[in-house]
Amino acid sequence: MELLQTIAAVRNYVAAARQRGLSIGLVPTMGYLHEGHLSLARAARQQNDVVIMSIFVNPTQFGPNEDFARYPRDLERDRELAAGAGVDAVFAPAVEEMYPAGYATYVQVEGLTEVLCGASRPGHFRGVTTVVSKLFNIVQPDRAYFGQKDYQQALVIKRMVRDLNFPIEIITIPTVREADGLALSSRNKYLTPEQRRSALSLHRALNLGSDLIKAGEREAAVVRRAMEKEITAWPETRIDYVAISDADTLKPLEKIAGRVLLALAVWVGNTRLIDNVVLEVND
Ligand code: AMP
Repeated sequence: MELLQTIAAVRNYVAAARQRGLSIGLVPTMGYLHEGHLSLARAARQQNDVVIMSIFVNPTQFGPNEDFARYPRDLERDRELAAGAGVDAVFAPAVEEMYPAGYATYVQVEGLTEVLCGASRPGHFRGVTTVVSKLFNIVQPDRAYFGQKDYQQALVIKRMVRDLNFPIEIITIPTVREADGLALSSRNKYLTPEQRRSALSLHRALNLGSDLIKAGEREAAVVRRAMEKEITAWPETRIDYVAISDADTLKPLEKIAGRVLLALAVWVGNTRLIDNVVLEVND
């Protein structure tokens, strides 16, 4: 497997593949790989001739008081895991390669980015759409792969691709979970054993909310309150948001109907975790 660290090296690698008529799949990540990332890579492996994974902890998507500096990094381990999942090349640039001195250009999707995670992380999605635009311009893939775990992110990127006419197909992949239901995340590494138990409250709350809706509850406030109660029953949890929203517009729902997103962000100790589930409610 190739390790590419400059934009010029990626352009050469991609040009050679294109000369041979090969299709290209891109898997953008921040590294510290787990099975969630690897399921994206395996899907890309099945659908493309060449698979490129980017590994870049993107400073512009972190707020000033967030975990950019301590975000876990292990490129050697990531290279082995990526190779095992069929990745052909890893693009792992330095921060200065992506954001040279004088960098001044940003991409922003409006509306969809002001709610849910965007409300508690101002500027986060602007950083995401900026770096993903750059990766799309550098790699020029046919397809790019994103996880359902970051539902809002995938929705925002699909809107950006449509609005800016990127000729790239966006593919979303279901959330990969631990046996007990916790969504895999690089940030799970921060959790103490007791916090790891409390982290299960996210999945428990989503299950509880889904069950209430399946049993016929249609008042979003009732479902939300039950979910909040489940979360706060666990030690060291603090709710950032519990949302019941239209899955396409992300607008909050009062009455539960149509394609419904249950999404939440919860602090467990000093670690902010997110999870979500989408339900079809047709009655
Ligand atoms: P990250 O490295 O956290 O930025 O994630 C890179 C990509 O992997 C994003 O598209 C995420 O949505 C996706 N991803 C992260 N965790 C999971 C998971 N548990 N299951 C599926 N995809 C995931």
